[in-house]
Amino acid sequence: MIQLYIPLNFLGMMYRELRQALTDIERMFGLMHEHQEIADAPDALTLPPGPASVRFEHVGFAYDAKRPILHDLDFEVPAGRTVAIVGHSGSGKSTLARLLYRFYDVQSGAIRVNGHDLRQLTQDSLHAAIGIVPQDTVLFNDTLFYNIQYGRPSASREEVDAAARAAQLTEFIQRLPDGYETRVGERGLKLSGGEKQRVAIARALLKNPAILIFDEATSALDSKTEKAIQAQIELAASGRTALVIAHRLSTVMNADEIIVLDQGRIVERGRHGALLARAGAYAQMWMLQQQEDGEQTAD
Ligand code: ATP
Repeated sequence: MIQLYIPLNFLGMMYRELRQALTDIERMFGLMHEHQEIADAPDALTLPPGPASVRFEHVGFAYDAKRPILHDLDFEVPAGRTVAIVGHSGSGKSTLARLLYRFYDVQSGAIRVNGHDLRQLTQDSLHAAIGIVPQDTVLFNDTLFYNIQYGRPSASREEVDAAARAAQLTEFIQRLPDGYETRVGERGLKLSGGEKQRVAIARALLKNPAILIFDEATSALDSKTEKAIQAQIELAASGRTALVIAHRLSTVMNADEIIVLDQGRIVERGRHGALLARAGAYAQMWMLQQQEDGEQTAD
């Protein structure tokens, strides 16, 4: 009986971890019910660990052939740099992140990591190289420790501590009566949006990926939280190749390049100051957000 119990118990644990990993990623990409299988090429290469550059090379993509979503997207995120993607709702920002994770294959052009077409890489090695800080982090009904360690289940206590410290969670954890052992999730302590995001950052830091996709929350934030998020994005991105999907322009002012998407096309690109000086689509979005913020402060 015991002999049977141990493997079953182990399988149960493995299943739980696998299920949860899938849940987080699928939710991040809004793909709960449409996960599509993509197989590795028979001679697929393993992407070695280390710094990684990302290149979108004339990428075209449609979920449905009748309705193209991305058109001739061409840009690079050099290793260690941060590129922000901004644009109105529906312009294709999340689609671009899904393609980098290879949830779907592009229909024209290519996406390359360190020069390798994603279709030539094993998905395991690609996924190991990418960390995701989702818009809305899923917290499991388990302890805070489990929820952070989930970024790399084999991580030691010291490593979890270091990631929590880097994500500025230490003080918060110390103030909780049960510290790391506090149960969180739907049946436990409810964390604020900012706290959840810090858990997501700690998870991502624990995984220590070369590439980070940061999907910023859409909800309106007060300017203090916004500043904190900007600092957190910069902290998590430092030393990594980062693609930040931004809704609040002020959080990506320092990005190495800002790409403005409109209906799946790049309509402007450059640094914050240069884009403002152009007085085009970006400057208009910026002014609109400043106005909205002013109105909120006045309320
Ligand atoms: P938001 O800022 O609102 O998150 P976004 O810029 O990230 O928007 P995407 O989610 O990339 O936009 O969507 C781009 C377009 O693709 C939209 O018109 C959307 O309706 C469509 N789309 C997104 N996901 C799918 C899907 N799974 N199947 C078909 N069409 C989709």
